[in-house]
Amino acid sequence: MSKHYDLISIGAGSGGLSAAERGAQYGKKCAIIESSKVGGTCVNIGCVPKKVMWNAANLAHGMADARDYGFDVTNNGLNWSKLIEQREGYISGITNWYGNYLSDSNIDYINGKARFVNATTIEVNGELYTADHIVVAPGGYPITPDIPGAELGMTSDGFFALKEQPKHITIVGSGYIAVELAGLMSSLGSQVTLLIRKGHVLGQMDSILTGTLAKVIQDDPNIVLLSTTEVESVEKNEQGQLTLHCTNNQQVNNVDALVWAIGRAPNTADLNLEAAGVEMDSRGYIPSNEYEETNVKGIYSLGDANGKAFLTPVAIAAARRLSDRLFNNMKDRKLDYSLIPTVVFSHPPIATIGLTETEARKSHGDAVKIYSTSFTPMTHAFTEHKAPTAMKLVCIGAQEKIIGCHIIGPGVDEMMQGFAVAIKMGATKADFDNTIAIHPCSAEELVTMR
Ligand code: FAD
Ligand code: NDP
Repeated sequence: MSKHYDLISIGAGSGGLSAAERGAQYGKKCAIIESSKVGGTCVNIGCVPKKVMWNAANLAHGMADARDYGFDVTNNGLNWSKLIEQREGYISGITNWYGNYLSDSNIDYINGKARFVNATTIEVNGELYTADHIVVAPGGYPITPDIPGAELGMTSDGFFALKEQPKHITIVGSGYIAVELAGLMSSLGSQVTLLIRKGHVLGQMDSILTGTLAKVIQDDPNIVLLSTTEVESVEKNEQGQLTLHCTNNQQVNNVDALVWAIGRAPNTADLNLEAAGVEMDSRGYIPSNEYEETNVKGIYSLGDANGKAFLTPVAIAAARRLSDRLFNNMKDRKLDYSLIPTVVFSHPPIATIGLTETEARKSHGDAVKIYSTSFTPMTHAFTEHKAPTAMKLVCIGAQEKIIGCHIIGPGVDEMMQGFAVAIKMGATKADFDNTIAIHPCSAEELVTMR
């Protein structure tokens, strides 16, 4: 005997939770199946713990800056255990809240691993569940390289489980996670080796961002940047420290913690998707169309598992729109994946939306006009530690419509959301210029660029 629902979400992460929540708000009977913890990657081992660590790192910079402003401040070091205890307490508060919220919302929470039996039936812990609509949102997992000793390292999951602050941490990778962890661990006082296989960090982003961040990393006394270097093997010595043997006969010694931050893959292998006839691509992602529909009617894929954009607000927005469409008669409701703003919580942070200059020139040629600026923000006018700020607007056509905005510097993480609204609405450079600046702050440069 199986239990029937209007909607079942596989995964209680950003996407799965949001689809069921919205469905339940329309009075539908919904269930969520989760094999690990409610909240998924973002809450437990992603955005939330990362942002807590980033906030702590900012406080360390703040203490150094405070001295230059005349405060009698001494940084006597970080109590790592206390920080982790506070962070995990905060996360428990969120997950406990979710537990109550789901039962109050009449959503069934089923703890266990979901496997398809057929296109409308899922098996969990030997029980069968059927649904008219099944949302597949199992997220992803961090990958590790296939080299001898790779298992001596950890991924971001292991990083968030560290009980002690590593004195020397080596991070391999050049994407979001690598630069975020490198920046925050350096700020918290660890010695960091950042090992990148090419000559850049955040290679997909605009050159003003990658260039500025690369210089900050190179100038950081706590970070050693090893570029165009790949790890070939890892070994552990009797003291428990790691040695990394790398290309070009390079070696990284005395490593207390090694983090692989070389990308993620979708959690789809164990879902038995074949039984439902759901197609995956060669990397295991489940392709979905603009309405998040897979090739099988009634089965949808969203969030990290559909491979479109790996961000929490994207998973949430796609899921809410899907339930609006399915249960609230909003026939054309779907997520527009263009102009997604995103922030990299590096030190300093990066915020970006739209086309890079290179992408714009490729598709719009000479119609592209660039405005850019770089400066030292006033906060750091006389501090020893200086974080740069750099900004670029990518415009096209006679109207100078803004199709890209790329900013790096203190405060840009909070700056972008409002500008993203304007850009999404089709703002032109003249609209920016017609907006009175707020003075004195870094953001005013975005409406006064010449
Ligand atoms: P997830 O949140 O991963 O949830 C999927 C859930 O499905 C998991 O809980 C998993 O246990 C469960 N599951 C998997 N298979 C099964 C199964 N067979 N049966 C039952 N349950 C299953 N994004 C941002 O926007 N901002 C950030 O600052 C940010 N920081 C990040 C930092 C890190 C270190 C990482 C790793 C990611 C970060 N992200 C950030 C990305 C963000 O976490 C993801 O894009 C988001 O969590 C994707 O949501 P999802 O619902 O697709 O999957
Ligand atoms: P990313 O895809 O951002 O970066 C991984 C990078 O590592 C690759 O682009 C590649 O860069 C490099 N790489 C790949 N393989 C190897 C290898 N074998 N050795 C060395 N380097 C390698 O992955 P992340 O895991 O950092 O993050 C996954 C996604 O999660 C992000 O893309 C983002 O969407 C999301 N996320 C969002 C955050 C936020 O919103 N602030 C924070 C964290 C994650 P190259 O080709 O240049 O070498």
